[in-house]
Amino acid sequence: MTDHTFDIVILGGGSGGYAAAIRASELGKSVALIEKDKVGGTCLHRGCIPTKALLHAAEVADTTRTAPSIGVKAQFDGIDMPGVTAYREGIVAKKFKGLEGLLKARGITVVSGEGRLASANSVAVGDDIYSGTDIILATGSYSRSLPGLEIGGRVLTSEHALALGEVPGRVLVLGGGVIGVEFASVWRSFGAEVTIIEALPHLVPNEDEAVSKTLERAFRRRGITYSLGVRFQSVTQSATGVTVTLEDGTVHEGDYLLVAVGRGPATDGLGFEAAGVALERGFVTVDERLRTTVPGIWAVGDITPGLQLAHRGFAQGIFVAEEIAGLAPIVVPDLEIPKVTYCDPEVASVGLTEAQAIEARGADAIESYNYNLAGNGKSEIIGTAGMIKVVREKAGPVIGVHMVGARVGELIGEAQLVVGWDAHPEDIAPFIHAHPTQNEALGEAFLALAGKPLHAL
Ligand SMILES: Cc1cc2nc3c(=O)[nH]c(=O)nc-3n(C[C@H](O)[C@H](O)[C@H](O)COP(=O)(O)OP(=O)(O)OC[C@H]3O[C@@H](n4cnc5c(N)ncnc54)[C@H](O)[C@@H]3O)c2cc1C
Repeated sequence: MTDHTFDIVILGGGSGGYAAAIRASELGKSVALIEKDKVGGTCLHRGCIPTKALLHAAEVADTTRTAPSIGVKAQFDGIDMPGVTAYREGIVAKKFKGLEGLLKARGITVVSGEGRLASANSVAVGDDIYSGTDIILATGSYSRSLPGLEIGGRVLTSEHALALGEVPGRVLVLGGGVIGVEFASVWRSFGAEVTIIEALPHLVPNEDEAVSKTLERAFRRRGITYSLGVRFQSVTQSATGVTVTLEDGTVHEGDYLLVAVGRGPATDGLGFEAAGVALERGFVTVDERLRTTVPGIWAVGDITPGLQLAHRGFAQGIFVAEEIAGLAPIVVPDLEIPKVTYCDPEVASVGLTEAQAIEARGADAIESYNYNLAGNGKSEIIGTAGMIKVVREKAGPVIGVHMVGARVGELIGEAQLVVGWDAHPEDIAPFIHAHPTQNEALGEAFLALAGKPLHAL
């Protein structure tokens, strides 16, 4: 048994863990980052980056298909899946190499191996013990399934779906949340018949209802079919396909079923509870300063309850490193974290939905405005429909922004500043938005709420 001592020992080298490692080393701490697979975690290897590469390939396919309609000669000849895979893997490999180099340059000790919390201040990796004044848990999440729904064969998780070497002819997607609609969007652009099965009444059910309805209309126009409000009952599979039965008896058939019903915290069997770290439904219990129930042990990223997003993991990792260093950073505000769903059209939001705002403040205290992208020149040029909804307190700040339309994810930065800084539409109205940009549509919504609409009524 060999003992290694560091200021900080981090278990898990994904978004949350490696961000904590980088910030802690910047602050002069010695850091061991323990990773059983590859640093970069889900986001880099199985999540954000590879799926966005697929979505970009999907966008190029659609652009090629529609090119003749705007006078550009091009012909869509189909998807070369090995080519798409090489492109996707190339992007991931480059980012992985960059991250490894960054961690090395920062003097972070990356330990390859499966770690287990051994005590309140140490992690065991095989026969080695890594001790730290502080320990940060960042073991991430895994694809969940439903009771009785077994993964395997033609029943896929997002990891299997990423690795699929073919474009399916017909595919079923169980779950209309972020991961489900992104894969549905890719496969449709690649030429598949796609059906999404969602038990709740809407696609992207955590978004403002107006956004969900606009996305549903857009998906319908794209030929993506969906079943809403009926729960999954069972699936059977043969050598060539899957058959899904819903609780109302409806039957759907496809070549594959993607199970995208959410992600669970990867906390099982890692010694957390034995060391005194409390869990709730598998998630690590933390206070707003990300302290677990054991002093000196912290948790960040998908294992903590809340939004499972890479940039939340980064922010939490940085927060904990700064907190350990005594910098008293401001708490990571879950409500002000921007969310983007990268399907076509994109969905982007920050803050409260209108329904949440009404529930929190009462209907009389809330005002909202929907700006239709039909009034926005740039959206017309790139051929997208959609809308931007701004929710404010009456005579008060903007508390929610909700957008749907091609490329609206790129607009979330301004929306996030407005919500995060409690800006009133009247404060923002004087800021000039460049013409013609989609960004102007946000400006138009703020102008309208400030009582002076321009390209709107
Ligand atoms: C298909 C998909 C698409 C996504 N797209 C986006 C997106 O576009 N934008 C976005 O913000 N988020 C996206 N996410 C979510 C994002 O990937 C996660 O929120 C993020 O990766 C969480 O970071 P984390 O550090 O908590 O965990 P992870 O990234 O899961 O990292 C945890 C790391 O810990 C390691 N580990 C676990 N147990 C041990 C152990 N015992 N010993 C050593 N190492 C261990 C794992 O190998 C892993 O590398 C997506 C997720 C998926 C699945």
